[in-house]
Amino acid sequence: MIALQHISKWVTNGGLRTFLLKDINLQIEEGEFVSIMGPSGSGKSTLLNVIGMLDDADEGEYNFLGQSIHTMKEKQRSQLYKAHIGFVFQAYHLIDELTVYENIETPLLYQDTKSAERKAMVGDMLDRFNIVGKKDLFPNQLSGGQQQLVGIARSLIASPKLLLADEPTGNLNSKQGEEIMDLFKQLNEEDGVTIIQVTHSEKNAAYGNRIINLLDGRIEHPR
Ligand code: ADP
Ligand code: ADP
Repeated sequence: MIALQHISKWVTNGGLRTFLLKDINLQIEEGEFVSIMGPSGSGKSTLLNVIGMLDDADEGEYNFLGQSIHTMKEKQRSQLYKAHIGFVFQAYHLIDELTVYENIETPLLYQDTKSAERKAMVGDMLDRFNIVGKKDLFPNQLSGGQQQLVGIARSLIASPKLLLADEPTGNLNSKQGEEIMDLFKQLNEEDGVTIIQVTHSEKNAAYGNRIINLLDGRIEHPR
C-alpha cells in the first residue's frame, strides 16, 4: 500500500541544511497497524504528513496504492487523499466556523452521498463518540478531548482505507483513550483498515502489529 524509498526532507537555515527525515525506506502493507514512536522532534509528524500526502519530500520515491506521488498533480493527490485517507491531526484542525455536526459531515460532501444518508451517518458517529449533545456547538465551545473525538469521528466517517493518526489519544483521559484504541483495533481487524499512528505511549503502540522508531529523522533498526 505504502512504499517509501530514500525519502529525505530538510529545511535550510542560513545555508545550513537540517534534515527532518533522512533516507527513510519503509513499506507498509494493506491491513497493517503500525505505531511510529520516537522522541519529540524526531520527525514523526513529518513522516505521517508525507505518508498522508499533506507534505512533500525533497528527495526519494513515494508510491501509494501503486501510484507514484511526486509526479502527480496537486488535484490528483487531493482526490486520492479524499477517496482513501482519514487523518486525525494532533491539533484537531477542525473548522472554527462549522458546528460539530458540520465538521464531521465535511468528508461526505466530497462524495455523492445523499443528504438523508449523510444525516444518518453523522448521527451514528455522534452516538458512537457520545457527543450527540454537542452537535450544534462550535469547536471553541468544546474541551480539547471533545475536539479530539470530533476529529476522530470526522476521520472515520467516509470509511477510509488508510487511517493516519497523530497522537489520537493525547488529549483524552485514560478511559476514553482505551476506548479509541479498542475502536482502532476493531477497525483494523474487522474492517481491514490500515492504521498508522504516532504515539508516545508504549501501551497504545502495543495495540498495533509493528513499531517504527524514529531518531533524528531516521528509522532506528534494532541491533
Ligand atoms: P509530536 O511528536 O506529535 O510533534 P511532540 O512530542 O513534539 O509531538 O510535542 C508535544 C509537545 O512538546 C508540543 O506541545 C510541542 O510543542 C512540544 N515540543 C516539541 N518539540 C519539543 C522539544 N524539542 N522540546 C520541548 N518541547 C517540545
Ligand atoms: P515529532 O513529530 O517527532 O516531534 P516533527 O516531525 O514535528 O517531529 O519535527 C521534526 C523536527 O523538525 C522538529 O525539531 C521540528 O521542530 C522541526 N520542523 C518541523 N517542521 C519544520 C519546518 N517547516 N521548519 C523548520 N523546522 C521544522
